[in-house]
Amino acid sequence: MANGKVTFDYNSCKGCGLCVTACPKKIIFLDKERINLKGYNPATVEKMEECIGCANCAMMCPDMIITVERL
Ligand code: SF4
Ligand code: SF4
Repeated sequence: MANGKVTFDYNSCKGCGLCVTACPKKIIFLDKERINLKGYNPATVEKMEECIGCANCAMMCPDMIITVERL
């Protein structure tokens, strides 16, 4: 199965959590330890090595701030 690498436009995230729900591998979470320029807990990936590069997260993000690379 393909691996993927996901990057977020950190400061554009509004913490809506839709990408968290969309990820079949459940590796995205809202980082409660960080606050971005908009004042939200931004989405991040915990175990990137488990990403399958499906891009569900990128398709779900209403602000299109997620980039998925297939490795
Ligand atoms: S590309 Fe797929 S597996 Fe990887 S973080 Fe996004 S939804 Fe999860
Ligand atoms: S769907 Fe987009 S805006 Fe919403 S939490 Fe995920 S990255 Fe942030």
